[in-house]
Amino acid sequence: MKLIELRRDIHKNPELGNAEFRTTGVIEKFLRQDGIIVRRPAKTGVVALITGTKKGAGPSRSIALRADIDALPITEKTNKPYRSRAAGVMHACGHDANTSMVAGAALLLARRKNEFSGTVKCIFQPNEEAAGGALGMIRAGVLKNPVPDCIVGIHVNPWLKTGTLGVKAGAMMAAVDRFTIEITGARSHGAYPHLGKDSIVIAAQVIQSLQSVVARQIDPVDPAVVTVGTIHGGEAFNVLAGSVTITGTVRTLNHKLRRDIARMMERHVAMIVKAYGANYRFSYEALGQPLENSPKVLALCRRAGGAVLGKKNIREIEKPSMGGEDFSEYLRYVPGCFVFMGARLRVPHPWHSERFDIDERALAKGAAVLEEIALSYLS
Ligand SMILES: [Zn+2]
Ligand SMILES: [Zn+2]
Repeated sequence: MKLIELRRDIHKNPELGNAEFRTTGVIEKFLRQDGIIVRRPAKTGVVALITGTKKGAGPSRSIALRADIDALPITEKTNKPYRSRAAGVMHACGHDANTSMVAGAALLLARRKNEFSGTVKCIFQPNEEAAGGALGMIRAGVLKNPVPDCIVGIHVNPWLKTGTLGVKAGAMMAAVDRFTIEITGARSHGAYPHLGKDSIVIAAQVIQSLQSVVARQIDPVDPAVVTVGTIHGGEAFNVLAGSVTITGTVRTLNHKLRRDIARMMERHVAMIVKAYGANYRFSYEALGQPLENSPKVLALCRRAGGAVLGKKNIREIEKPSMGGEDFSEYLRYVPGCFVFMGARLRVPHPWHSERFDIDERALAKGAAVLEEIALSYLS
């Protein structure tokens, strides 16, 4: 019951990435009631440590549980009594629920300290949506003192039946990259194209060609997406555009393909631009890592999930998502696994919808699964 109250409190008062000041305070207060030691590694976000008191035989181990705490710039359109009170901000991804599940697990584990040895580190991370939150926490030292041996991230899923746990072997979410291409041709009168270098015609060929990188140069069973999101250029209907800027995103599921695709894209741009005697600038930024689950931590999640929810309620997620999730940043340092807690309503709405909501019965189940994951790892 407590978890539903906590979730509704956070849901009613959503805050955007890196501005989760109230949310941070609410989490701290919730955890302190059971004497859990909390600290604030950055401006917002919380790290809680629960140390077991059982005499361990071997060296003491440590496991991290991670939730995200930020909301989105969306105006809520549900008529629930706990709907957002903050104009234009909403927990439309369910991070309020993720927070409640990890906070619930922290409380449960604090009460069973004498049953395990080692440490559970609960990470409540800011700013997942705009990316950079996980990286900020890592830089602030959340993976030190103690260094966790593994990490588990949990996220509510509006499509999975309440009480089921969604798991996925291997690659689960994509790397998120951004590219910018600036094409510089030469202006001239629209009636005399041979006197200029038309950046718009060049850009059109570049865009077609970028699509053929995926269609013709990449193994079709290795998923990749190249999306051009913006194109800007030109000043007047009768003037050749002097320059065009194109931006877009690339999604891949592994590091090698990610490097290859960036190289192939630039090669296409360079050849086309050269054919017209124009110039270009190509920049490619890695915004997020691909999320790949560790087989060992996945097995731990499957076992613990099955023990709490029943084996038949462990659902294998068939396809990876080309969306990103910055939980992947932790996986560069620590093996881990990301799992989905089913929280389906009679009429589900997708993540990031203004009508997004969850079945709150999932909160206690998610907390119990995380509790079991930590307990079975540390005892
Ligand atoms: Zn989201
Ligand atoms: Zn999310």
